[in-house]
Amino acid sequence: MNPLKKRSRKMRKVYLDNGATTRVDERVAKAMLPYFTKYYGNASSIHQFGSKVEEDLKKARETIAKEINAEADEIIFTSGGTESDNLAIKGIVEGKKGKIITSKIEHPAVLETCKYLEKKGYEVKYLDVDREGFVKLKDLEKEIDKNTLIVSIMHANNEIGVIQDIAKIGEICRKKKVVFHTDAVQSFKKIKIDVKKMNLDLVSLSAHKINGPKGIGALYVREGLGLKPLFHGGHQEFGLRVGTENIAGIIGFAEAVKLQMDVEKIKKLRDKLIGGILKKIPNTKLNGSREKRICNNANISFENVEGESILMHLDFKGIAVSTGSACMAKDLKPSHVLTAMGLNMKECHGSIRFSLDKFSTEEDVNYLLDVLPDIIKKLREISPLK
Ligand SMILES: *Cc1c(COP(=O)(O)O)cnc(C)c1O
Repeated sequence: MNPLKKRSRKMRKVYLDNGATTRVDERVAKAMLPYFTKYYGNASSIHQFGSKVEEDLKKARETIAKEINAEADEIIFTSGGTESDNLAIKGIVEGKKGKIITSKIEHPAVLETCKYLEKKGYEVKYLDVDREGFVKLKDLEKEIDKNTLIVSIMHANNEIGVIQDIAKIGEICRKKKVVFHTDAVQSFKKIKIDVKKMNLDLVSLSAHKINGPKGIGALYVREGLGLKPLFHGGHQEFGLRVGTENIAGIIGFAEAVKLQMDVEKIKKLRDKLIGGILKKIPNTKLNGSREKRICNNANISFENVEGESILMHLDFKGIAVSTGSACMAKDLKPSHVLTAMGLNMKECHGSIRFSLDKFSTEEDVNYLLDVLPDIIKKLREISPLK
């Protein structure tokens, strides 16, 4: 037998890129299947095929609403986080003139939407963050004026995992009567979200970051907000997101929401990973607040090495990680998040995001801690960055 083949078959596969997407839980996949071949009716149809699907759609909507303490008719199903972010911001500012406030560390779905709207004539303020990755609330308060149409600040950051105080931001916005949108794609199910207690008006969610299927998400839209739709040509989703519903996706999303996330287990593994790397490998640094970060994220800078080289060498060993956000992975621009935090070019380029989930194991982390020190040592030896 070819020895190479044998080796590759035996190689351990470790997925530490759950910030990009997660594995679908078997129970989710199982729940979805009947909606392709058995319950294939259109929820809008009056007959039994339709009403069965309509009933199940209603239950799924209630499941997701309950998870964030919303009402069922405040949940709008979309194609995912990107669409929810677009719908939230464009849907509020449409037909109005004024200002949008966001931060420099938002996901591209928010940042690029804001840049597009800036070209259309809206004023956009991109708030700075501090060295730990937090938006300064004083800056936010100062920026909100009578022209402000919407504030969009994410809950947990996808690159560094830092958690913003959205309850406080919600309070500020509600007091000043400004609409508040938060992208909670990374935090959903990992941190408790209560739209009422936190004074949230719009919340973006996505299924594939919580062991659900890709291509389905939701936007929480507070009752009476007067959001305008992006699409026309139907009546689905209260007219706010028309088109025949992705019913299998919606069923899968609701199933994923019902599952346990195991936050404490993930956090323990994450802490072992961070502690192990910082202890075993010199000249490494954790990016973003140590305390206020989501349970599954570790973003670490390795001095004098290129993040892309680390990624590729880990890939040879069967370990999947990411440099910055998945959307940035194909170009070599430094991360906008790390740059906003004041890291220099060298620190940005040598950064890796390790992101775990409930399927991650102690053996996965041990294996990483086994192979990574050697990889970094070798890369540093040949590094032109020294
Ligand atoms: C993944 C992600 C998105 C995009 O969600 P999709 O469902 O992939 O469109 C938006 N915001 C954040 C913070 C994300 O992590």
